[in-house]
Amino acid sequence: MNYVGAVYRPPSEARSLILQATVGCSHNRCTFCHMYKDDNFRLKPLADILADLEQAARHRYPYKRLFIADGDALIMPTQSLVAIMEKAKQVLPLLERIGIYASPISIRTKSDEELRLLKKHGLDIAYLGLESGDDVVLKQVCKGSTAKEILRDAQRLKTADILLSVTLISGLGGKERLKEHALHSAQILSEMDPDYLGLLTLHLSKETPIFKEVQEGRLTLLSPSDVLDELDILIRHLHVSNMVFRSNHASNYWALSGDLPQDKELLLEEIKKARSGLKERRSEWMRAL
Ligand code: SF4
Repeated sequence: MNYVGAVYRPPSEARSLILQATVGCSHNRCTFCHMYKDDNFRLKPLADILADLEQAARHRYPYKRLFIADGDALIMPTQSLVAIMEKAKQVLPLLERIGIYASPISIRTKSDEELRLLKKHGLDIAYLGLESGDDVVLKQVCKGSTAKEILRDAQRLKTADILLSVTLISGLGGKERLKEHALHSAQILSEMDPDYLGLLTLHLSKETPIFKEVQEGRLTLLSPSDVLDELDILIRHLHVSNMVFRSNHASNYWALSGDLPQDKELLLEEIKKARSGLKERRSEWMRAL
């Protein structure tokens, strides 16, 4: 595979073939994100992407999942994505699922008809960063969209029958907006009703603008105990129909998982256990983003 720069994927795509269709992220302005700071955003030539697929197929590894990267690969022209997915199904006969990173802006480049076409040609799941449901936090971190706008983008994916996996970042509003971040995120997520919610915890990287904000005292990082307070508010106020919750990312202090709404009490119990030290906490030096 011809990877350019570092290639990232969601934890749940650990066993997938990672296919790099774009380099970097077309937005690349979120103040907490260090992932693509060294890369100028560009689309890779379609011929190169298809050649990568052929090369991967020659290894005869029984891939069941394909994940299309980088940061907001959904921004590729629809016909190119269709060609990639058709080729993937042809050369990887055991393929069961195709996933992609989507940003709010990349979803807005697609009409409803195009989203349905992508689903028809094999796009099963899209990963979308909400990061926070609080507009003050979203503005502070330069997400480039309001919570309601991201909600509408997410609903369009769902209407096209594409599974929706959303990420939220614990501590993104600092101590200053802990309550608002948790409550407003719970509200927006309840309306959005995603299929999956992946929780990350803010972990500073020195190259990011948010690092400077913390250094200058404009944002106060959450302590592990604050993280539990925030999570407790979030879980209590989440009202979804059928959502898998996971905090298994390397940035989190505690790995929690459950299906909501049925596991709400169980998750709240896990938070209590974590608070009383009965649940193992990831050491600071082992955390990563
Ligand atoms: S949209 Fe995603 S990949 Fe792009 S800068 Fe923001 S967090 Fe990073």
